[in-house]
Amino acid sequence: MNNQGKPAVFLDRDGVLNREIGYIKKLEDLTLISGAAKAVRRLNEANIFCCLVTNQAGAARGFYPLEHVLDLNQRLCDLLEAEAGAKLDALYYCRYLSAPAGGKTPELTRWSTWRKPNTGMLVAAAWEYNLDLKRSVVVGDKATDIDLANNVGAKGILVQTGYGKEILKGEYQHRAHPDYVAADLTQAVDWIFGHMKSA
Ligand SMILES: [Mg+2]
Repeated sequence: MNNQGKPAVFLDRDGVLNREIGYIKKLEDLTLISGAAKAVRRLNEANIFCCLVTNQAGAARGFYPLEHVLDLNQRLCDLLEAEAGAKLDALYYCRYLSAPAGGKTPELTRWSTWRKPNTGMLVAAAWEYNLDLKRSVVVGDKATDIDLANNVGAKGILVQTGYGKEILKGEYQHRAHPDYVAADLTQAVDWIFGHMKSA
């Protein structure tokens, strides 16, 4: 990997940018967390590469067609733009789920290196956009997001929106070892600016 690459901020979707409500079956039920759009806009203005990395197994579980995931991502981008003129520089999502984990739709049911906490989405983004993962930050609300950061040598920020509070209390998934615990994405971006200045 090219050491001259640029740092990036990898953002989980549900529970970080939009409200965590489980699998989102109706498009209009995707709504932004307060302050999230403005936080992304601040990253944009600082020229920091913003990349969505999200596990989206709803189609693999048979809850809706794969096109619905694309529609949800488009709605997310539209809301970010409308609320604060914010944009994501790249979007990656993992559509696959293994059969033991609950995959049902045949063409989407398989184990994947892209499914977090596996590192496939970040490795793909690093090659495609010349990113330096070790100087990058992952922001998420689950232990698996923090594991992902650890797996690539990036910094991991756990936000307390979404499942973040349950993770901290040890009531969901497993205990995580984040580099920083933020109330929300706004506070996470404050930390990122301080971290990137001193790095
Ligand atoms: Mg999440």
